[in-house]
Amino acid sequence: MPAEGGGRVGLIARLVGSDGGGWRLLFEDSPMGIAIVDRAGRILLANRAAYALAGHVGAPPPPGTALAELFHPEDRAKLETETARACGGLGPRLGLELRLAERRGADGAALGCSVAMVAISPLAEDDGSICGAVVRMTDITRHRVIETQLAQNQKMQAVGQLAGGIAHDFNNLLTTIIAATDFCLARRPLDEATEADLLHIRRSAERGAALVRQLLAFSRRQTLQPRVLRLAEAIEDVASLLRRLLGHRVVLELDLDRPGPFVRVDPVQFDQVIVNLALNARDAMPQGGALAVRTATLTVYRPMVRGQEVIPPGRYAVVEVADNGIGIPPDVLPRLFEPFFTTKKDSGGTGLGLATVYGIVRQTGGFIAVDSKQGEGTTFRIYLPIASGEDAPAAPETPRPASVRHVSLPQPPEAAAGSAAGERGTVLLVEDEEGVRRLTVRALENAGWRVLVAPTGDIALQLLAREPEPPRVVVTDFVLPGMDGAEVVRAVRALHPRVPVILVSGYAESAAREGLPDADLRFLAKPFTFRQLLEAIERSLEAAG
Ligand code: ADP
Repeated sequence: MPAEGGGRVGLIARLVGSDGGGWRLLFEDSPMGIAIVDRAGRILLANRAAYALAGHVGAPPPPGTALAELFHPEDRAKLETETARACGGLGPRLGLELRLAERRGADGAALGCSVAMVAISPLAEDDGSICGAVVRMTDITRHRVIETQLAQNQKMQAVGQLAGGIAHDFNNLLTTIIAATDFCLARRPLDEATEADLLHIRRSAERGAALVRQLLAFSRRQTLQPRVLRLAEAIEDVASLLRRLLGHRVVLELDLDRPGPFVRVDPVQFDQVIVNLALNARDAMPQGGALAVRTATLTVYRPMVRGQEVIPPGRYAVVEVADNGIGIPPDVLPRLFEPFFTTKKDSGGTGLGLATVYGIVRQTGGFIAVDSKQGEGTTFRIYLPIASGEDAPAAPETPRPASVRHVSLPQPPEAAAGSAAGERGTVLLVEDEEGVRRLTVRALENAGWRVLVAPTGDIALQLLAREPEPPRVVVTDFVLPGMDGAEVVRAVRALHPRVPVILVSGYAESAAREGLPDADLRFLAKPFTFRQLLEAIERSLEAAG
């Protein structure tokens, strides 16, 4: 066994000698990689774990090999410098995070490299002279992966909360703008220029509303209307739209598991997911290519890590959307689902497509993961919990809108023609946002309603207590100062158990509905048009008989 300087055999010889007895056993079996090196950083002795860390199986490299060779070429100099420092009397070097040499599979394919936490402790002879060092190495790759996933998840959650908060306030503002514009438009005759300006305001507000919807989708606070349907049929339904969007240069290949599993999704939002993935795939194949959409089922027995997701055990319906486009660089992959992350700024990318996809999939109880190789293509996989077919509707439902990117145009408020305020009965309106409140009162009065109006739940209850008759219908916002919409519903129901209630909310129905198992309760998503509000009132009254 070579020892540095030839004659210096004391401590090193005792450590590396084959008569080490018990300690050699501990050394060899330690799960921590340990290497004894001379002052020049050459391996004198290393255990199995040290070699395994760097992917060495079988015969270890010959003694005298530089320990640095087990490490990534870019991190070798750092190891050498720190070893020299430890051996130069500067004390132990601890907490060094270094990448190990890249592992290769049997076919020579790169398998990535592990990260090790490295500590270098000098070895001193009895006379105090340093003859080498003990290098301890722990594989922390898994920790790092989990840490990164956690940080990414936390980031997505924080951004989601922020986006959701902003979207909520914007919903109120946009509802007011759209409504006020509609009132002005209804006030005819208008001169041409004023009408053009008003239409311009309304179009911009609608575009704002579309953005808000995407933000709400990302922050998983959209109002979803889920239905149980066959996954394969849902894909088939959207296929003709996809073909139109993809153009003639991209071929759509469907490989659907038929009849296949049922899933519980909002069909319009599901279309949006598939369309957004397909549009990105089209952008990634400027010269044309193939987009494959496949479905399958999968049973997960143990928690399964896919990208940033940990998919719990269960039965899943899987949708795979695969292109053979430009692929995604590894450093971009972790940021893909962040809102406003785009590599297409110049061509009008908003960075909201995948954020929307992510939000919808997660709000639906599913997971999404992506695999990509630069120059070869990208595959998105969506895992949706399989639903029981018992809840599936027997007859086909109302057809979906022709274009899923279509933003419904707000209709002008109902004309007041022939309806005097109050003749239809009384509506109790609870809304804290002044602009929305004022315009809603006007729309309701125009439609023949008498409106009891309150900015908070407390005031609403005081008004109700003074009324001799129950109102015909209650319209309340969900987010209110003091008692929230759900509490208002409960308090109103305590006084008038059968009065129909419309809960207006920019938030997810499931969140708003919590603890309110109630057939006479309807939801209206913000921003809404007055026609939608009036229709919701009519439907509530019909249902209540
Ligand atoms: P946008 O399309 O507006 O940029 P997205 O959120 O839909 O926003 O996508 C974010 C980014 O993800 C894109 O800018 C692109 O860099 C990348 N990306 C998404 N899908 C693909 C794909 N199929 N192939 C290559 N890159 C993709």
